[in-house]
Amino acid sequence: MAEDPNTWEVETRLVRGGMARTPYGEMSEALFLTQSFAYDSAEAADRRFSGEDPGFIYQRFGNPTTSIFEDRLALLEGAEQCRATASGMAAVQMALMGLLRAGDHLVAGRALFGSCRWIVSELLPRFGVETTYVDATDLSAWRNAVRPNTKAFLVETPANPLLEITDIAAVAQVAKDAGAKLVVDNVFATPVFQKPLALGADVVVYSATKHIDGQGRVLGGAILGGAELMTEAYKDLLRHTGPALSPFNAWVLLKGLETLELRVRRQTENAAKVAEALAGHGKTQQLVWCGRHDHPQAEVIARQMSGGGNVLAFDLGSRDVAWRFLNALEIVDISNNLGDAKSMATHPSTTTHRSMPEAERIEIGLTEGWVRMSVGLEGAGDLVRDVSRALDAA
Ligand SMILES: *Cc1c(COP(=O)(O)O)cnc(C)c1O
Repeated sequence: MAEDPNTWEVETRLVRGGMARTPYGEMSEALFLTQSFAYDSAEAADRRFSGEDPGFIYQRFGNPTTSIFEDRLALLEGAEQCRATASGMAAVQMALMGLLRAGDHLVAGRALFGSCRWIVSELLPRFGVETTYVDATDLSAWRNAVRPNTKAFLVETPANPLLEITDIAAVAQVAKDAGAKLVVDNVFATPVFQKPLALGADVVVYSATKHIDGQGRVLGGAILGGAELMTEAYKDLLRHTGPALSPFNAWVLLKGLETLELRVRRQTENAAKVAEALAGHGKTQQLVWCGRHDHPQAEVIARQMSGGGNVLAFDLGSRDVAWRFLNALEIVDISNNLGDAKSMATHPSTTTHRSMPEAERIEIGLTEGWVRMSVGLEGAGDLVRDVSRALDAA
């Protein structure tokens, strides 16, 4: 092929990146639902296992459909390599396991997705890894947390559920000075609006379950980074521990990637309109959306994100009002997922963040009046009407 995919526009990368056709010339990527592969001869098997012949061996190691998904996502991200995983949590877990061993120290932003917090607080200590949690918006906190044995930084930005922003380039520099690798969970921004690797991060992780599927069907995840680190830290770990993405799910996610940019942009336009309606309503005490000038870190957002995304959070003052709002919604569902075509809203302190001790919830500012909303692809007028009516009723 004469065209270099690395010169393609985002939309072209999403539709055609990684395309590898079989001799049938199919238009839609082939789904290879196969566990293993046959070799023409014992000699051929020998060459395959030695790595001299780069073909496929076993689904846990790699699969042609999964590999198209990995190559397409890597091309979108601008990463040398991508490894797909069975879920976002498998990606986060493996991203950390590959960088840390007993005696090492991790620094993590304190506003983390619930299961990520469990891994960091409950699982890693069993294997001798200690963690210091920091206010991820405070650069000096990252600096002060560094110890001689700090090997990795973990941050989610925008963070769930209150959309706090971490200055990726600045924290990447602190990590670099400390000799630690920076892992960024880029789910909320999506690969369309934020490129952590270009800002200096070493590893990016996704839950592909969210915007990449975008239609609420399958779980999936991905780890992306430079070829050397991906090989050193992750190749053997992923092969031998088995968090492989199912080729069926890879195929679904591939088709999701084709429309990712379109969907995320429309969701963001809808989010802007819903945010406007919420901000103008007397029951809203505070509203946070990364696309608004009144976001507390709008200046950092302008430097590192090219769009506000589809998630917003707002404080209705008390659990009663928040629950009455949720119960009065007619179009928007009460659900804890995000990035779906269907809009949904959730009450984080009793759902996604209920396992976080109350003191820690207060520390990140998550009081009981907060509602998180993932804005979908319905008509903006219908969404604004639904949200406004539910606010009136609350
Ligand atoms: C959903 C989510 C995860 C976990 O992904 P799963 O696919 O559900 O395992 C991790 N991080 C963030 C920020 C998420 O939103």
